[in-house]
Formats: sequence, C-alpha cells, structure tokens
Amino acid sequence: MSSQPQSLTDLLADIRTFVRERWHPIEEQVERDDAVPASVVDELRRKGYFGWSIPTEYGGLGLSTEELVTCAFELSQASVALRARVGTNTGIGSEALVADGTPMQKQRYLPRMASGELTGCLALTEPDAGSEASNVQTTAHRVGDHYVLNGRKCYITNAPIADLFTVIARTEAGTRGSAGLSAFIVERGFAGLRTGAPYRKMGQAGSPVSDVYLEDCQVPVANLIGGHEGVGFQTVMKVLNKQRLHLAALCTGPAIRMLELAMGHTQRRQQFGQPVAQFQLLQAMIADSQTEIYAARSMILEAARARDRGEDVALAASMCKYFASEMCGRVADRCVQMFGGAGYVADFSPIERYYRDVRLFRLYEGTSQIHQLNIAKLVLRGSAV
Ligand SMILES: Cc1cc2nc3c(=O)[nH]c(=O)nc-3n(C[C@H](O)[C@H](O)[C@H](O)COP(=O)(O)OP(=O)(O)OC[C@H]3O[C@@H](n4cnc5c(N)ncnc54)[C@H](O)[C@@H]3O)c2cc1C
Repeated sequence: MSSQPQSLTDLLADIRTFVRERWHPIEEQVERDDAVPASVVDELRRKGYFGWSIPTEYGGLGLSTEELVTCAFELSQASVALRARVGTNTGIGSEALVADGTPMQKQRYLPRMASGELTGCLALTEPDAGSEASNVQTTAHRVGDHYVLNGRKCYITNAPIADLFTVIARTEAGTRGSAGLSAFIVERGFAGLRTGAPYRKMGQAGSPVSDVYLEDCQVPVANLIGGHEGVGFQTVMKVLNKQRLHLAALCTGPAIRMLELAMGHTQRRQQFGQPVAQFQLLQAMIADSQTEIYAARSMILEAARARDRGEDVALAASMCKYFASEMCGRVADRCVQMFGGAGYVADFSPIERYYRDVRLFRLYEGTSQIHQLNIAKLVLRGSAV
C-alpha cells in the first residue's frame, strides 16, 4: 500500500525522518554487506521516492527542478548508497525517456520506474569514451524490425541490479564524435545483454557498478528513444544538464552531514581542558565549511529556478557540479582533520567512510577538469553568467 506524502513540506519532513531514523542506523550494515536491504528498497518504493522527477501522468510526483534539488539536499545527508539507489531512477536512469521518449515509450516504462518496480541506469561511458564522451564505439545496425547492438560499456552505476539500460550507440557507420549517435532503451531480458561482476571500489559500498556487454544484442526498433536516429548525444546532453544540478545537490547533503558529525565530535572531545570546538583554528574550518555549503546551496537553487523558467542552464549546471563536488571534498578533508585520529579509523567514526564515498563526486558526470574546460569555453563564447 502507498504511504506517499501529500505536499512538498510533507515530503521534506518524511525524507528527513527517513534519513535520520531509518538510514543512519543501517549505514554500517550497508557498508558491510555492500547492499541496500530489500526491506528498505520496498519502503522507498511505497513512499514513491523513485518517481520524484517523473511526470504525474506517468505515475511520478512531477517535481520541478527546484523541488527536486531541495529534496536531494535532504536525501543526501546520508551515506551515498541511499541516493545512488533512489537517485538513478529520479535522474540519469529515467531522464532520457522523460526528455525525449515517445508517448508510447513513456507509457511503457515510466510508470514502472516511478513505482520502483524497474531500476534504470545510463550506459554512456566506454573504455575509450570517458571524458571524451562522444567517442562512442558501440554500434547499432538496423536489421528488419530490430537493431543489433555490439560494444562494451564500463563504470555503469546500478548495472548489476538494473532492469533498464539507456544505451548510447553509433547508428551511422563512418561518423565520429557526437554525430551519428542514437539512444536506446534496452531491457535486461533482451538477448545479447550481459552485465559484469560488480567492481571493488574505493567507497560507496551498497551502490553496485559494473561493465555492460552488448553482444549482438537485439533491440526492437520501437526502443529507439524518440524514434529518430542521430540525436542520441543531444538527448544525453539534456539528461546531463538537469542531472548536473541534481548531482550538485546530492554533493551538498553529505557535506551538511559530515559537518554535523564533526560539530558533535568537536563539542564532545576535550583537550587542554576544553572542547576542541573552542579552538579558533578549528572554528576557521567550521566557518569555511558552513560558508561553502551555503554558497553551493544558493547557486544550485538559483540555477534550478532558472531551469524551471526555461532558461539555458548549461553554464550554470557545469559551475554548480564543479563547485559542489569540489566543496564536498574540501569539507570531507576538514572533517577528518576535526575528528583527529578518530577521523581516520573506521571503528571510531563514520567520517572515514564518508571521505571515501564522496571522492567519486569529482570524477563522474564530468571530471572537475572537464567542467573547468566547459565553463571557460561557454564564458569565452559569451554566454551570460
Ligand atoms: C564509480 C563510477 C560510477 C560511474 N557511473 C557511470 C554511469 O552510471 N554511467 C556512465 O555512463 N558513466 C559512469 N561513470 C563514468 C564516469 O563518468 C567517467 O569515469 C568520467 O567521465 C571520467 O572518464 P574516465 O574515467 O575515462 O577518465 P579519463 O577521461 O581517462 O580522464 C583521466 C584524467 O584526465 C583528465 N582529462 C581528460 N581529458 C582532459 C582534457 N581534455 N583536459 C584536461 N584534463 C583532461 C580527467 O579530468 C582525469 O583527471 C562512472 C564512473 C565511476 C568511477
């Protein structure tokens, strides 16, 4: 039975309670088991959390970008596995369909993604297409009423548990770069799709990531997203422009949580006869962290509102992702420092785990260097700030 909150205020209160009362107590278990318990996934389904950004006509909540990032600030005040489990369906896993799917494709897949029955993922990256994302080598040839896909995708979040894969492949032989790419929805059951074993990673235990192999994979023509060949990269860029704001918000929550943990520790831990929070050198770390969190929140909300007004946010989204992911790394480092030795020892504090978890933010969905280049390119081209 559904237990979905009725308003945004209710939803935010519900997320806050869930994160604190249900998720924080099991973070260590998720780390140990490298899996989110099935009972928690069921609870998230009943709450409707998988459908936040999916339009209401397809069973989701239809949140605006501003509402989505506001919810993401709350959801991500937790270990990253929680948001990775939920946020792929509310982000890169469903967004290509939301942005460019035909009404029939939306009707077929989105309601089941919104309910959490289906888990989605985006399979763009390949061994030779990382930062150079358009260098896709996976091919798709049309044979009758099917496309036949061949290639290997790597580093795909949720691939080991996904039911649906948004796959970017080259439909036009002889093209290079973003021309000639198309986006497909591939179901796990389609012949010729196989996923690899989950990687052993630095952090984010409970969020499985693996290769995806397409070996003469048979995909019905009806699953070409939007029904048009050659526009797959444009679809990906629509996905990423929204996703970068979403991810920036998801980088901000862990910083809030880490600072909260560090506050508690520095007020309890006594040295030289007083709580270490009384020392001004630590207070500078607290002030810098709080200021940077505020700055990230403010710029993300501003950019989200601009997107909701229909403005081009390519530059703002890149700046938000770059700033928020780097900010989170700086806050993580300061928080380890504020914990002292206990920040380095997993037995003594969760900060060691958070520090490892958040390192990924600066790498995926565009490394910091790629965002620097993108920001500079757009500014030099004369985009409004
Ligand atoms: C755990 C994890 C989960 C992921 N999830 C997904 C997913 O769900 N779907 C998906 O499609 N992808 C996913 N990715 C892939 C991720 O987006 C890529 O790893 C990322 O884009 C970087 O590509 P790369 O690893 O090939 O690094 P490379 O491109 O090889 O970069 C190596 C270094 O060179 C720098 N560099 C590269 N080009 C330039 C340049 N022109 N100028 C300056 N510096 C440059 C980079 O910044 C980096 O420091 C995931 C990755 C990881 C690790």
